[in-house]
Amino acid sequence: MQCEQFTIKNSHCKMIKQILIIEDSVTLASHLKIEIDEYFSFCCDIAVNETQAREMIRLKQYDLVITDIYLPDSSGNFIGELVRSELRVIVMTASENEELRLGILSLPILDYVLKNDAKTLVDYLINTIRRLNENHNTIIGICDDSRVSRHLIAEVLKSQNLPYIEFLDGQEAYTCIIKQNFKIDVLLTDYEMPRMNGLDLIRHLRHEYLPSKLPILAISASEKPSLTVRFLKAGASDYIKKPFGNEELCTRLNITLDQLYTNRRNTALYQALEKTATHDFLTQLYNRNFFFSQINHITADAVRQNKPYGILMIDIDHFKKVNDTYGHHAGDVAIQHVAMILKKIARSSDYCIRWGGEEFLILIPHSTASEITAFSERLRAAMEKSTVVVEDEKLTFKITISIGGLVGLSETHKNMILQADTLLYEAKNSGRNCIRIGE
Ligand code: GH3
Ligand code: MG
Ligand code: MG
Ligand code: MG
Repeated sequence: MQCEQFTIKNSHCKMIKQILIIEDSVTLASHLKIEIDEYFSFCCDIAVNETQAREMIRLKQYDLVITDIYLPDSSGNFIGELVRSELRVIVMTASENEELRLGILSLPILDYVLKNDAKTLVDYLINTIRRLNENHNTIIGICDDSRVSRHLIAEVLKSQNLPYIEFLDGQEAYTCIIKQNFKIDVLLTDYEMPRMNGLDLIRHLRHEYLPSKLPILAISASEKPSLTVRFLKAGASDYIKKPFGNEELCTRLNITLDQLYTNRRNTALYQALEKTATHDFLTQLYNRNFFFSQINHITADAVRQNKPYGILMIDIDHFKKVNDTYGHHAGDVAIQHVAMILKKIARSSDYCIRWGGEEFLILIPHSTASEITAFSERLRAAMEKSTVVVEDEKLTFKITISIGGLVGLSETHKNMILQADTLLYEAKNSGRNCIRIGE
């Protein structure tokens, strides 16, 4: 992935699937294993001392090690040994000793977590693993004129499985995100930079992107007392004062990422719900619900523009016989077959609706009687020519359809549907496999 002169780094991250829990309390270790395994469908391994852990690490490649500090056979430098083997390590401890904390954080570990409360610990670990496995889909922009700062931030991002892209000043970030329309998910920006500073960059970006679409974290060494508030008022999601520790940067970034991922999940959920509410499960055509949500708007538009709309009622001929002869599953396949042909022949501006059992309705904005006549005839002929194939039953058969349709300007669609139904009835009475179009 490339954004002209900008390259995405750290884009091939390894997902976490194999986890080793090193904990001498069998009760806590088992509890963690049960909760993590259930949440992710993993199978975590447990070691109860260093010797056992070393042997397990020798035999298996772990993506994450969650370890207690004090183990019965403690050598004193076990965590150092783990990070030197390039393992990702989360350290658990019951001690709130500050010296110990600083000692642990001086090592390149992934995180440090207190195990005073089992529920909080489980929730924190599950959230961390889930986030780490979502991070590879999130691109972070680092905008800072200081190479050292960019490097420090990049190291944190690498440890968190986050792909990133570097900008040397606000102007570069602006060009990439706004001019080249390149999708950045979270931006970390410095304040003082040549050409365009961080505050101006945020102001420009906020014209195009809401904070929920592009969270921005400002990072600055400036001593100006009002700067935090100015950043937040300009639309920054957070402000981090330089020099910062990796733990602080990571924790603040994680809060932003968690919100972003919650938004992503909610959006996906909403889209799935909307699709279910407006589409028919068997054919994936629109359902009646959708028709009634659109029809008033379409009829009003037709009347305003004085351009008639068309309604076609389509019904499969002798469909009961299909079910009786070939079975209900073959009947379902036949309904899907008709839906497929309707979608193929209709224009993208037409609305194909599964009206009921083996009945379909097509709503055609801006149409004429001759257009819907030609369209109906194409549908009828295509269906007659085609063959229904029930693959798993190695079964093929033919079906035909009858169509009743008309164009009109009536604001009350009910009359139009009634008339289309009457025309369909006429088509059926005329021997089926034919069309009847009225005006
Ligand atoms: P005509 O040519 O007059 O339309 O005859 P027909 O047999 O097609 O008409 P009728 O409306 O009497 O029968 C429709 C049948 O469609 C009845 C019902 O069991 C069947 N049906 C309705 N929905 C489904 C479905 O989702 N799957 C299957 N397999 N059958 C369905
Ligand atoms: Mg700077
Ligand atoms: Mg029928
Ligand atoms: Mg019917």
